[in-house]
Parts: sequence; C-alpha cells; structure tokens
Amino acid sequence: MPSEDDESAMHYDWLVVGAGLSGATFAERLAADANQRVLVVDRRPHVAGNVFDSPDHTGLLIHRYGPHIFHTRSEQVWAYLNRFTKWHPYVHRVQAEINNTMVPLPFNLNSIERLFDTNEAARLCATLLREFPEGTKVPVLRLLEHSDRALADLGEFVYQNVFLHYTVKQWGYRPEELDRSVTGRVPVLVGRDNRYFQDPHQGTPLHGYTAMVQRMLEHPSITVATETDQSALGSNVTWDRCVFTGPIDEYFGMEYGALPYRSLRFEHRTLQVDRAQPVAQVNYPDQRPYTRSVEHAHFSDAHLGVTTVTREFPMAHIPGETEPYYPVPTEESHQAYRRYAEHAQKFAPDTLFVGRLAHYRYYDMDQAVNHALHAYQRHVRDGAPQLLSTVTG
Ligand code: FAD
Ligand code: UDP
Repeated sequence: MPSEDDESAMHYDWLVVGAGLSGATFAERLAADANQRVLVVDRRPHVAGNVFDSPDHTGLLIHRYGPHIFHTRSEQVWAYLNRFTKWHPYVHRVQAEINNTMVPLPFNLNSIERLFDTNEAARLCATLLREFPEGTKVPVLRLLEHSDRALADLGEFVYQNVFLHYTVKQWGYRPEELDRSVTGRVPVLVGRDNRYFQDPHQGTPLHGYTAMVQRMLEHPSITVATETDQSALGSNVTWDRCVFTGPIDEYFGMEYGALPYRSLRFEHRTLQVDRAQPVAQVNYPDQRPYTRSVEHAHFSDAHLGVTTVTREFPMAHIPGETEPYYPVPTEESHQAYRRYAEHAQKFAPDTLFVGRLAHYRYYDMDQAVNHALHAYQRHVRDGAPQLLSTVTG
C-alpha cells in the first residue's frame, strides 16, 4: 500500500473488496483481460481469504481456515487456475470414528462391512445393490424414506451415527432443518470408492493456495492493500466501479437484520511423530465438541518426522469478533438474504456483489472461481465491450 502521501488522489477503475478466490479472480480478469487499474483491499493481514495457508514453526504448510481440497468438474475453472499453479496430485480421503471404529466416508459398502457383522453386512450390501445401480449416491435423508424396511433402518443408523451430532455441532440445526443439499454433499455411496470427491480434477496447489492467489494478483495494474477495510479508505482514494466479496448484510449496515453465519475455532497441536492419522481428515460424528481433526502433512505428502493436527470447534458467528465462515443454509436465512439481493441489484452495474459471502451461498472453491469468471463475463465483457479495446488475453 502506498504511503499516506503517495495515496493522495489515487484513482482506480475498480475497487475489489476481498482478496479471496472470488476477488482475486475478478481482479485478475479486470487487469489481464480488460486492462483496468484495480485496487484490491482485504481487512485481513494476508491475501487468499479462507484458502490462506502458511508454514507453522515446523515448516509444514497449514490451511489456516480449515482443510481446503480443490476439486472440480469444470474444465474452464481447472484450465483457468492452471495458469497460476501446478498441482500436487492429492486425493482426499476421510474416515469417521464411529463406535471406536474408523470407517470410510462418504459412508459406503466398505463402511458397512466395518460396522456390521459379516452376515448382516452382506445382506445390507446386497439389498443396496438390488435397489440402486452400483455407484449411486443416495442422500441420507432419502435413504431414511426408503420403502424397503432394511434400507430405511440403515438410513436411520447412518443418520444417527454419521449426520445427527456432527450436523448439530456444525450448524446448530438438525439435518432435516437445513437445506437438503447440505447433507447431500456427503451422500451414502452404493459402491466401494473411498475417495471423498469423485470429480475428475482434484489436488492441492504445489506451493500452496496463498502462492497461487499471489500469482493471480501480481499483475502490474493490480494494487493490493491488506489490513485495509473498505470503510477505512480515505476520500483521496476513488474508483469508478466496485466488486464487493464480503458479507452482504454488513455492506448494507444490517439494514434487513444480521444474516446468520457459522464460525470456527481452530486448535493446532504439533506431535513428535511423522503421522498421527491414517488420512488427512478424521470426523467425529459424536458428542465431542469438535467436528473433525485435520493432519496437514497429508496434503503435500510431507514427511518431516513431526506433524501438526488441527481440531475444528464450530460456533455461532459474532460480527466484528469472529470470521463468518459458513452461510447457514436454512429457508429462513435464504429468505432474509433475498431481501439484500434485491436491494443490491439497484447498485448494479457500479457495485457488484460476488462470492460466497456476498451471495450467501455454500460455494466450494471451484464455484467461487466459476461465479467470479461469469460475473466478469456478464458485467464487464458483455456489458462494456468498449473496455476491451486493449485486451491482452
Ligand atoms: P472469502 O475467502 O471469504 O473472501 C472474502 C474476503 O473478503 C475475506 O478475506 C475478508 O477478509 C474480505 N472482506 C470482507 N469484508 C471486507 C471489507 N469490508 N473490507 C475488506 N475486506 C473485506 N472449498 C472447496 O472447494 N474445498 C474444500 O475443501 C473447502 N473447505 C472449506 C473449509 C472451510 C472450513 C471453509 C470455511 C470453506 C471451505 N471451502 C472449501 C470453501 C472455500 O473456502 C470458498 O469457496 C472460497 O474461499 C470462497 O472465496 P471468496 O473469495 O468468495 O470468500
Ligand atoms: N456431515 C455430517 N457428518 C460428517 C460429514 C458431513 O453430518 O461426518 C454433514 C454436515 O452437516 C456437514 C455437511 O454434511 O456440514 C457437509 O459436509 P462437508 O464435508 O462437505 O463440509 P465442509 O467441508 O464444507 O465443512
């Protein structure tokens, strides 16, 4: 950030609020594709938003805001991010500790065999394979409603032992009180694929997410100011148009009430062993106060003889005190959001709202990038072709 004096009377074509994946993608396109001068601000002391990673005292790269595994079906998003990073071919595997037994998640035929006696497991697997083609993904709330009694009972078992307590800890709501897509993210798999994601592209950036985002933002037409809240920008800094990627309710001064978010507390522990867990993520779908434990060394296949493990403790978000990690996907909160979204439309095209917090949507990284690319296409490329006289690609 230039000094107070350099900064005086600085004018930018665009202000991008938030240096997370959404803001970085939009800013990169503005600078590299439309030759625009862009100021990117973030109130945190770093770029990359929630995908920020940095080494700890042992040298291990730590995902500071929870485990981030990139996965996508979108060739466009994959090709776009490949401009800024190479990838470590990490494949995410998760196990849950259920009744003192580690079982693969998403819950699948292998999980059944770990938890039930041989005959019962064989019967359940055969019934599942009779009712569903192999490879089918069945959300637990659908399995619960199944007309076959044995499958509905299996649904009840999975609901009680995998989803109920984890979901109540994570969201403060029971599974059926949330949008069905939430628990549908981790459906029961009628098969034996133990991977958490089946997308054709998955991995972790070879040098980390922060390095990837730094490369996105390193264009000479982009100025980045961290530890800078939008509201703290002086009147000497001006811009023509703005992209806001923060919480939409906060932007409008909570005019229609505060939207609920869930936050997290992270507890890091360094252990004097090379590996502490069989897989990067172990879930605890029981009454313990934390939801999952993450061992970061798995993400880059680092073997340092020491390891760092992080437990996640979910909590309600307190504006101004905690980070709003997750929009809460209930019908009520989506309705409250819609009032903000309608209001926001009045500010287009001068101020655009893009990203997980501005759209109040449970976006994965690829969706955040995808939406930012599309918003850029719609509002800048299609909306203002005169900007593109000096396109650089
Ligand atoms: P953010 O990263 O939240 O960026 C918004 C930025 O705006 C923030 O840095 C914030 O400081 C800044 N900001 C807000 N208001 C202001 C203001 N007034 N002034 C200045 N700056 C401001 N996705 C996956 O695909 N795979 C995963 O494994 C995965 N794991 C996740 C685990 C956790 C615990 C969480 C919370 C999310 C996970 N995600 C995952 C989702 C992923 O983090 C998001 O899709 C992505 O980071 C969204 O990027 P964004 O830029 O929209 O938002
Ligand atoms: N979930 C659960 N038990 C698990 C894993 C997931 O109940 O062991 C539910 C929970 O409601 C969670 C949702 O499924 O919030 C989505 O899980 P995912 O792993 O996608 O969560 P994220 O990584 O986005 O926090």
